[in-house]
Amino acid sequence: MAIVGITALVPPEIVYASGNIPVDINNFVPRSGVVPRDKLCAWTALWRDLTLMGRIKLDKLVVVAGGDCNNALVDGEKIELSGVDTHYFTYPFDGSAKIMRHEIDKLVEFLGGELDESVFNRVTELKSAATAVDSERVSMHINSQDAFEIMVSGSDLAGSLEDYRKMIDSVVKKRVDCDFRLALLGTPPIYDGFHEFLDSLGLHIVYDEMPYEFLRLRGDTVKSISESYADYSFARNITHRIKLLKSELKQRGVEGIIHFHQFACHHKLEDPILREALCAEGYPFITIEADLPSKTPQQTRLRIEAFKERLGDL
Ligand code: SF4
Repeated sequence: MAIVGITALVPPEIVYASGNIPVDINNFVPRSGVVPRDKLCAWTALWRDLTLMGRIKLDKLVVVAGGDCNNALVDGEKIELSGVDTHYFTYPFDGSAKIMRHEIDKLVEFLGGELDESVFNRVTELKSAATAVDSERVSMHINSQDAFEIMVSGSDLAGSLEDYRKMIDSVVKKRVDCDFRLALLGTPPIYDGFHEFLDSLGLHIVYDEMPYEFLRLRGDTVKSISESYADYSFARNITHRIKLLKSELKQRGVEGIIHFHQFACHHKLEDPILREALCAEGYPFITIEADLPSKTPQQTRLRIEAFKERLGDL
């Protein structure tokens, strides 16, 4: 059984079914307290440095080298050069299930070549339970920080199916009051406790775009997993992603949008496209660009407070 680091979404079903343990190494970044030595995106630079420093211990590494994150490649290569057995995984831009299947077959080979497919149903059952947490926060019975913790942990299911079940079961349901229901689009915030800060302002996140993808994609066979992950919206054409966004924003009764992105991330260039498409639907929109991990900076807090005032004026 190997500890397999993943740098972005890699089907955790496949890693568990191969008898290994996935660990999303991004989860070490927000509270790392480390300043990267050289970087484009702070996420990739910090999981690179933390691994090279020995603060993240891995037996193998799967780098998402294209489609979702386009910055991880060289930082992954630096870890490979340090001696970690490394594989590169790519999503098809056109949503081809055939290409996705080929990528998954190569991943299976890298992970040892054998799969216990009974694990797929256990993962699906956990993803359904986590999706129920998402629904409860949409219906105002779970606060957005607690729901976010469950959803963002869906990338590796907390590194243990048993621990993830306990995490889900321990979420406390309590009536949530808020002033506005918001969506958080883009990459998950690198600011520790960002949702908690929003909760404190009466801004309830009812849609975390990327973490929701971690739960939405699933399957009970290699074929259905390939078909599902081929639809990963962050790796697809922006027009496809906007269609999904419009549907989720409407269903969840969203009243305003925060688009969160990172300095030096290619997703940053999508901001004007998303802004134009979603403002045209009547959604107030604010863009937050982050760089290094920290608590939410004062300037960002002030901008979000001003955004809330704007929502109240509409
Ligand atoms: S923020 Fe962008 S560049 Fe950084 S890890 Fe995420 S997808 Fe990659």
